[in-house]
Amino acid sequence: MADNPMNSIFIPTRSPPRQSLIETVGITEEGVFIEASSGFGQSSESVHCHHGIMSAEIGQLSTIPPKQRTLEAAQKYAHNKLNLPKEVFHGGFILEKIDGPMSTGHLVLTDTDVRNNPAVTFNYFSHPQDLNRCIYGIKTIERILKTNRFSELSADGAGLSMERVLNMSVQANVNLIPKHTNDTESLEQFCKDTVITIWHYHGGCHVGKVVDQHYRVLGVSGLRVVDGSIFSKSPGTNPQATVMMMGRYMGVKILRERLGRAAGV
Ligand SMILES: Cc1cc2nc3c(=O)[nH]c(=O)nc-3n(C[C@H](O)[C@H](O)[C@H](O)COP(=O)(O)OP(=O)(O)OC[C@H]3O[C@@H](n4cnc5c(N)ncnc54)[C@H](O)[C@@H]3O)c2cc1C
Repeated sequence: MADNPMNSIFIPTRSPPRQSLIETVGITEEGVFIEASSGFGQSSESVHCHHGIMSAEIGQLSTIPPKQRTLEAAQKYAHNKLNLPKEVFHGGFILEKIDGPMSTGHLVLTDTDVRNNPAVTFNYFSHPQDLNRCIYGIKTIERILKTNRFSELSADGAGLSMERVLNMSVQANVNLIPKHTNDTESLEQFCKDTVITIWHYHGGCHVGKVVDQHYRVLGVSGLRVVDGSIFSKSPGTNPQATVMMMGRYMGVKILRERLGRAAGV
C-alpha cells in the first residue's frame, strides 16, 4: 500500500494571478510530477476557510501515525488554520508529487466490524530514493522560481529567495508533523516535515496477494475488487479516470464472458 507524497512551495505574487485548478506543468525524468495552482484565497477570510486541496480538514491526518489521528488532532488542525499567514496565500503554489513511491506502508483491520475504518500507515520517505526525488523536485521548483517570468510576479519584481519561500511554505503547511529549525536549510528535513497527501492512496489489494489476475479475491468465490487498491502504481497524476476505466473495462469483460453477443456491449 502506498501514497504519493506531495510537497508544496507557496509563491505570493504582486497581484492576484488568474485562478487555475491544479495543472500538471512538468513530468521529470526522475519521476517527479511538477504541478501548479494559482489565484486562490485572496481575502483574509478565505485563508481561514476551505482551501480545497490544501484543506486541513481533508485527509492530512494520514501524515501522522494512526494512534495520533484523534479528535484532538483534527481540532488542532482547525486551530492551526486560524494562525496561517494570509500573505503566503496571495498567489499560488507549485507542488511536486512523487510518481511511483518506493516507500510502502501497511493496512491493518482494527476489528471485524466492516463499518470501521482500517488503520493505514504510509511511511512517507522511508525509502531514500523517494527523499532524493523530493529534493530533486524542490530544486526543480527553485529553478522555475529563478526565471525572469517568476521574478516579475514578485512584489518588488526582483524575485523571491528560496530561503524565504521555504520559510513561508513551512509556515503555511497544515500537516501535524513537528517542524524543525533547519527546515529551510535542509531540503531533506523540509520534505519530511511538510509532506502532505494528494489523496492518491493505492495498492491495498495487489494482484497475486489479495486478488488474482482477473481481480477475483483469492479464496473467496463471487467477489472481485476493481478499484484503486489493485494498483501497484498510481497512474499519472490523477487516478480517478483510470479507476473508472478499469471498472467499465472489467464490467464489459464479465458481461461478454457470461452473455456473449447478447451482452450488447
Ligand atoms: C479530497 C480528494 C480529492 C481528490 N481529487 C482527485 C482529482 O482531482 N482527480 C483524481 O483523478 N482523483 C482525485 N482523488 C482520488 C480519487 O478520488 C481516488 O483515487 C478514487 O476515488 C479511488 O477510487 P476507488 O473506487 O478505489 O475508491 P473510493 O472512491 O474511495 O471508493 C470506495 C468506496 O467504498 C465504500 N466503502 C468503504 N468501506 C466500505 C464498507 N465496509 N462497505 C461498503 N462500502 C464501503 C466507500 O464509501 C466508497 O464509496 C481525490 C481524492 C480525495 C479524497
